[in-house]
Parts: sequence; structure tokens; C-alpha cells
Amino acid sequence: MKLLEDRIRQDGKIFPGDVLKVDSFLNHRIDVALLSQIGKEFYKRYQNEGVSLILTVEASGIGVACLAAEAFGCPVLFAKKSKTSNIGDNFWSATAHSYTHGNDNTLIVSKDYLGKGERILILDDFLANGCAATALTEICAQAGTTVVGIGAVIEKTYQKGGDALRQKGFRVESLARIASMSPEAGIKFC
Ligand code: 5GP
Repeated sequence: MKLLEDRIRQDGKIFPGDVLKVDSFLNHRIDVALLSQIGKEFYKRYQNEGVSLILTVEASGIGVACLAAEAFGCPVLFAKKSKTSNIGDNFWSATAHSYTHGNDNTLIVSKDYLGKGERILILDDFLANGCAATALTEICAQAGTTVVGIGAVIEKTYQKGGDALRQKGFRVESLARIASMSPEAGIKFC
């Protein structure tokens, strides 16, 4: 998606640990008009899949999931990273290693909002090693739902999460595919 690649080139900053910072428009300050275009692009790609629910992880996936959900006309469900007292034991859960924080998070989703028959599109801001997306697929399997696709705004293709998920048979689509990045050479798209 050229608009997105241009914005990443313009505003993305490369940090140590293979982290691309795009928090001026994607996951801290949010450029809603851009996310709306991103949401429409996901709709274009998955519109024939009968998506009934978009599943993401708090917090950085929520913005893009909401704008995409507007295009699909479906709700968003986000996995929480901590158990709140009012959810009781009524939840599906899976563990994901956090790429940016370096710790393990137990992702939880209320059983009230995820159950058999749903056709799920998993969306997130980044796809790196695939831990977050894999944990979400595990939660979907526990709930007996069908994952019709996995979408990332930005995929760092030199990290192996996307390919591992494709090999498992998931349809993975990413809108900006980074082939390599370094402070010296900058960002190269596929
Ligand atoms: P994965 O679980 O695929 O290894 O990493 C995806 C998750 O880690 C996303 O939810 C995202 O928030 C975070 N992440 C991974 N790589 C980056 C990155 O380069 N920049 C930022 N800002 N977040 C990242």
C-alpha cells in the first residue's frame, strides 16, 4: 500500500532491537484518515470471507481494528493482557511473548464474546515473530471459531512469523512489507 509505505518512509524511526517506531501516526498518536484507508484496504482483501468479528490485542491493534471493522460492518474484540476482576474464570487464554516489552503476556478474551460459528479476521499493527497472532489463533481454536485471515499493517518479512503462519495454512496479508531495515541503510520494502 503505497500511501502507507510513503508515510513509513517519512515518519518511521528505526530503534535498537529491530523496532520500527511509527507512533506518530499508527499506535500512539493516530492518523484516523490513514487508518480509515488501511481499514478499507483490509476490507478489499477479505470482503468475500464472511468476516463476522475482528480480533486484535490491546492496545496497539485496537485503532486499526476499529477502522477496519467500520468497513466490514462488524464488531471488534480485543484480547486483554491482564485479567480484570469482573471477568471471573469465564475466558479463553493463550500466552504470547511480547516483542517490544520482552515479557510473556497471557492474552485473555471473555467466552461471552467469542464462540462457535464466528468467522474471525485477526488484525494487528505489526507482524514480527508471530507470537501475538499465533496466541490469537490458539484462542480462536479453543473457542471453536474459524480464522479466515490474519492481517498486519506492517510485516517485517525478514522475521519469520508471517511465513510460519502461512505454512500453517493461514491466509496472511500485510499492507507494508519490510524486506530489511537498519539505521545506516534505512527501510527497504519488498
Ligand atoms: P510478534 O508477536 O509478531 O513478534 O510481534 C508483533 C507485536 O509486537 C505487535 O503487537 C506489535 O505491537 C509489536 N511489535 C513487533 N515489532 C514491532 C516494531 O518493529 N515496532 C513496534 N512499534 N511494535 C512492534
